[in-house]
Amino acid sequence: MQVTILGSGSPLPDPGRAGPSTLVRTAAGDFLFDCGRGVLMRAAAAGSGAAMVRGLFLTHLHSDHITDLNDVLTTRWVMSLAPNPLAVFGPVGTAALVAATEAMLEPDIGYRLAHHDDLQWRPPSTVTEVENGVVFDEGGVTVTAAPTDHAPVRPTVGFRIDDGGKAVVIAGDTVPCPGLDELCVGADVLVHTVVRRDIIESIGLPRLTDVLDYHSSVPDAAQTAARGGVGTLVLTHLVPAPAPGTEQEWLDQAQAPFKGEVLLATDLLTLDLSA
Ligand SMILES: [Zn+2]
Repeated sequence: MQVTILGSGSPLPDPGRAGPSTLVRTAAGDFLFDCGRGVLMRAAAAGSGAAMVRGLFLTHLHSDHITDLNDVLTTRWVMSLAPNPLAVFGPVGTAALVAATEAMLEPDIGYRLAHHDDLQWRPPSTVTEVENGVVFDEGGVTVTAAPTDHAPVRPTVGFRIDDGGKAVVIAGDTVPCPGLDELCVGADVLVHTVVRRDIIESIGLPRLTDVLDYHSSVPDAAQTAARGGVGTLVLTHLVPAPAPGTEQEWLDQAQAPFKGEVLLATDLLTLDLSA
């Protein structure tokens, strides 16, 4: 199993960080977790792409995590020479989101169907709304969902991927919670979105301070990793993006409560769990 951070950024545009998305390559195929800004540019750099995705898993429907869903749907459709349904898994509300995205794309769908004689089908997709438990089981690979806590955004889910005796957890946006703790038990890698509470409080901008309500700080994520006995904690969705030279501050805040390996994500950071 291989984990690649496609986008380590957040809603705040950053020239070097795409929006939230993680690629997990498994024995059952490539899984995409969230599809934020620029996801397919980074997927191309990682040697994957929309047509290759075995499953798209959404942690929640906040715009920064789903903004390029339209690109994944359209690019998969036009790059597949036969109907190739996109399998989407996400919290309740995902089916309506996919339907609304397809409706938004209606002019484009009409143009392409009229233009290409060999393209006779609309962008196909299947949607599975998930809450708790095993949501994918194929070829010895399982994906397990559990509810997380990103209130007032509801519902939200985290995912655990088990493949070949290794386990990766994708937390999504959440404060520490029992559902995430369950997923993390004994995991090799935890990919966790984080914000810097100290920096955000010092800025004091209400619109920004609000995000502290429903995100984990760096120490919060580290404590979750410690409780689960996780091997490696990957900090991503970095708010605000680390200023050059401040990377060690982030690591220090995580390494106080957590004694495992801590990595500060950059786009295309890759962890190989096969060895
Ligand atoms: Zn969110």
